[in-house]
Amino acid sequence: MTAPTTSTTAADARGRWGEYGGVFVPESLMEALRRLEAARSEAWADPDFHAELARLNKQVIGRPTPLYLASRLTEMAGGARIWLKREDMAFTGAHKINNTLGQLLLTKRMGKSRVLAETGAGMHGVATAAAAAYFGIPCRVYMGAEDTRRQSHNVARMKMLGAEVFPVATGTQTLKDAINEALRDWVTTVEDTHYVIGSVVGPHPFPQMVGDLQSVIGREARDQMLDQAGKLPNAVLACVGGGSNAIGIFRGFLEDAAVKIYGVEAAGTGVEGTPHSAAIGLGRPGVLHGARSYLLQDPDGQILPAHSVAPGLDYPGVGPEHSMLKDSGRVDYLTATDSDALAAFKALATSEGILPALESSHAVARGLDLAKQIGKGGDVLVCLSGRGDKDVDIVAGSLGL
Ligand SMILES: *Cc1c(COP(=O)(O)O)cnc(C)c1O
Repeated sequence: MTAPTTSTTAADARGRWGEYGGVFVPESLMEALRRLEAARSEAWADPDFHAELARLNKQVIGRPTPLYLASRLTEMAGGARIWLKREDMAFTGAHKINNTLGQLLLTKRMGKSRVLAETGAGMHGVATAAAAAYFGIPCRVYMGAEDTRRQSHNVARMKMLGAEVFPVATGTQTLKDAINEALRDWVTTVEDTHYVIGSVVGPHPFPQMVGDLQSVIGREARDQMLDQAGKLPNAVLACVGGGSNAIGIFRGFLEDAAVKIYGVEAAGTGVEGTPHSAAIGLGRPGVLHGARSYLLQDPDGQILPAHSVAPGLDYPGVGPEHSMLKDSGRVDYLTATDSDALAAFKALATSEGILPALESSHAVARGLDLAKQIGKGGDVLVCLSGRGDKDVDIVAGSLGL
């Protein structure tokens, strides 16, 4: 089993990714983050930690997840073969569990007795609640009050898993406010509590740690492409919210110069002047939630509200590693609109019998275009970050079912 430290990119000693990342937090959290980084690097260097992580990946998550040749979708697009990395088949239905189980294992190792998490649509909250239940550790999840109303199913799932859901009634009552509130809790409880961040965002060492735990996706996918296709793909695509499933799969291919890599952000309705979530494509660098990165902000630097039909892409920022990869030109960042995603959802459902998450559908949409562009004989790999069962109400409404 390969260690999660075999990332092809890493933050520097100050937790910077080029000019991005860093540790922009109140003094009261500095010591906690220093201790977390010490615990992380010590665990990462310990073969026993990796052995236990490998066991969890296999026996709890069900890894490796399949690499799936989408034959009928390929036929429909009429070009390069389309391969799907099936994170939708991981325990709890998305890639987020790769991160939460790893962080809970670290929590136990640090001797902490409680975890906190933030959640937007509820997927990270559910994955943290499941991992906390597995380890027998109490869990509190902060969630915007508006989101608790929109995502009542996930609130129920978290409670069934034994977590306490704490509605946040400040600001826009969404993910951004939930993160602020979770950070506030952590400042006063840091002695016995670990904060499980859900994506490659936040202050160092979170972007490094979450990226390393998700890089299992890319390691498996690269081996599986060589095994099943006999070669590497021409292009790799993933949707980008905070950016963790994308970093997970990208890390497997960053050093393969011939492989083109694409992140797909949510363009919302696509109508100029309406809210969207394309922080890299249409934002500019600033500081949010403890790190410097591309952000959606107004001319005064106030954070703009994000929007996407996919609840998990609805975040005004993006991880610092993506900001660096954008500036270096190694990764191209594209967008897909709400209606592009819905069309891709429908195409995948009817051609393969797979209901993809609306987030993942953004990557599928641009993957279909690239497959046509690259043409027969080529191979396109798309990260299918999660299953779409959580989205049936939204899709049914949008398609008039
Ligand atoms: C949360 C989520 C995302 C977005 O998060 P990233 O950190 O950008 O990966 C994408 N897909 C699914 C299925 C999710 O649940």
